[in-house]
Parts: sequence; structure tokens; C-alpha cells
Amino acid sequence: MKISFFSARKYEQEVFESVFANTGMELDFFELRLTAKTAQLAKGFTTICCFVNDLLNAEVLTELSKMGIKNIALRCAGFNNVNLPKAKELGIRVVRVPDYSPYAVAEHAVALLLTLNRKTHRAHSRIRDLNFSLEGLVGFDLRGKTVGIIGTGKIGRVFAGIMKGFGCTILAYDPYPHKEMESIGTYVTLPEIFKNADIISLHCPLNDSTKHLLSASTFEMMKPNAVIINTGRGALIDSKALIDALKTHKIGGACLDVYEEEEGVFFTDQSTGGIMDDVLARLTTFPNVILTSHQAFLTNEALRNIAETTRDNIRNLVDQGKCQNEL
Ligand code: NAD
Repeated sequence: MKISFFSARKYEQEVFESVFANTGMELDFFELRLTAKTAQLAKGFTTICCFVNDLLNAEVLTELSKMGIKNIALRCAGFNNVNLPKAKELGIRVVRVPDYSPYAVAEHAVALLLTLNRKTHRAHSRIRDLNFSLEGLVGFDLRGKTVGIIGTGKIGRVFAGIMKGFGCTILAYDPYPHKEMESIGTYVTLPEIFKNADIISLHCPLNDSTKHLLSASTFEMMKPNAVIINTGRGALIDSKALIDALKTHKIGGACLDVYEEEEGVFFTDQSTGGIMDDVLARLTTFPNVILTSHQAFLTNEALRNIAETTRDNIRNLVDQGKCQNEL
């Protein structure tokens, strides 16, 4: 069987090739993102493998179905980019990797927070420029601060444990509270998180009820020094409202691994063409914003787990007709 990979990058190809060796499955890697324009590349395959920013809307799914695509293996946890009802209607089966390394993502959230707070990125550039001044590099102790965690699933709980280790007080919100959190923090309402947290981290899925969870009205409730962290999905935050909140000092800073219009920009080198998205361009200008290009998942352990689960998902779907990770 041949499987086509969209949005394939070199760092994952090596891992996938080693994990799929001797399985009888042949992998064809396309660097292009799946869109209506690139869907034709799937011709001749029955199974394709997609990532977070591949477009799997009704139009693309219909195209894929006409070409004979039967299975879509997502090599990620989130599936907000897939029109699942349409896939079902077309008889296309979709599997995902629900759990590959909550540590990778939670640790990246902490890395962003520590960097923004202690300004190590700025200190590093200064020292390379032989500037040993400490002006403008004052941070704050994490110990004693209140951390609000929205979504206490696999990643949110790991993040909660790490922040507890720093000596923080943990507040959490999740419509489905988790027993493990009882020994780590306290479940409260969302407004209580917005009002009381010094640090707010988003770990819930993106869906109709969580889109723009952080908006002008919620920034209004926050402490003026509050730092927000988003390693979930970009559209959990209204980016224009975030810019206003930063400009008017309603919040203290933002650590962002995801951005609501990241498709087509993140994972690519835009250094010669420049940024065409004015909102993203403005976000990159704030000294109290740190941005990474959806890299929270990117550890050796996570890549291997993603490749192994994807291999098993496809095998189960094709050989046994059922897969526990089917959506
Ligand atoms: P999970 O399914 O284990 O946990 C999600 C939690 O969110 C669940 O406990 C659920 O009850 C809760 N939730 C649902 N609706 C909510 C709401 N309205 N408000 C608050 N909580 C709500 O998922 P996970 O593995 O912890 O991943 C969380 C999210 O992280 C994923 O949905 C994905 O979007 C994102 N993610 C990002 C990266 C990255 O590289 N940046 C990597 C993996 C996952």
C-alpha cells in the first residue's frame, strides 16, 4: 500500500521512514499543504496522512473522495481542521494520534513562559552583541503566583503538575473535571480564572464553544500583569482583541505557539517574502510577546510516538477494519 503525506517536513520523514520500514507500506512525501489546489497530488492513493494545517473542508474532502481516498490518518491530536460530518457522509474514515507526548507540549508552554518572563531570548541576543547591560530584563518569581489552566486533559494536567512544582497555586476550569487534579489545584469558574490568575494557559480543544475564548471582554477581566499562554489552537484567542489588550496594557504579555491564521505561514520560511498578515506582523513587534511556529509537539519522543501510532492506526483500519483512534 502507498500512502501520501501532505505538509511533510524533513525532520519527520526520517522518523516515519524508520518506523514504517518492513511494513509493506510505501510512503510518498509532499511538502505542500493539502488544499483544494494541491488535492490532485492524492491521485492514485487510497490513504493519505495529514497534519494540523492541512485543509480538510467539504470541498477538499469531496475532491479526495472522487479520487478514491478511503482513509485519512491525521498525524496530530487536534482535528478542528476536518469537516467530520462531511467525511462520514463520503465514507472517508479518519483516524488521529490522540496521545503522543503531553510532556512535549506542556514543557514547551513552560519554556515560553520562562523565556518571556526572564527575557533570556533578549539577554542572549544582547550578549552576542557584546552588550552586558541588564536594563529592561527584570522578571518575576513564579513561586507564589496563581496559574489558571483552561482544559485539564492530558497536556493541561502535565502543565499543572510542573507549575505546582514551581510553587504556584493552581486554578483550573474544565467542563469535565479530572480526579487527578484534586491533589494539584482547585476547579473554579472561568471568570474566577480570568480575575485571579497571574498566568493563564489554554489546553482545551478548539470548537464552536471555545472559539475566541479569550476576547476583548475576557481581557478586560484580567490582571494588568497577567501572562497568557496558548499552545492549544490559535483561534482560542481573538488576535485583534489581544493586540488591543497589549497596546492598552490590559495584560502583561503573551506566549503563543499557535495563531488563528497560521495556515500557510507557520512551518514555512517567509524570511525573503515578508509577512503579509498585518495582525501577525503586529504581534511580532511587542517585546512582551513570544511566538513560536506551532513547535510545542516537536521532540524526538513525540515524533516517534506519532509515527508508531500512525503506522498502527493505518494497519488496524486497513487490515482489521477498525481502529480505536477513529473519529
Ligand atoms: P485532551 O482531550 O486530553 O484534553 C482536552 C481537555 O479540554 C479535556 O479535559 C476537555 O474536557 C477540556 N475541554 C473541552 N471543552 C472545554 C472548554 N470549553 N473549556 C475548558 N476545557 C474544555 O487533549 P490534550 O491532549 O490535552 O490537548 C489539548 C489541546 O492541545 C488539543 O486540543 C490541541 O488543540 C492542542 N495541541 C497542541 C499541540 C501543539 O503542538 N501546539 C500539540 C498537541 C495538542
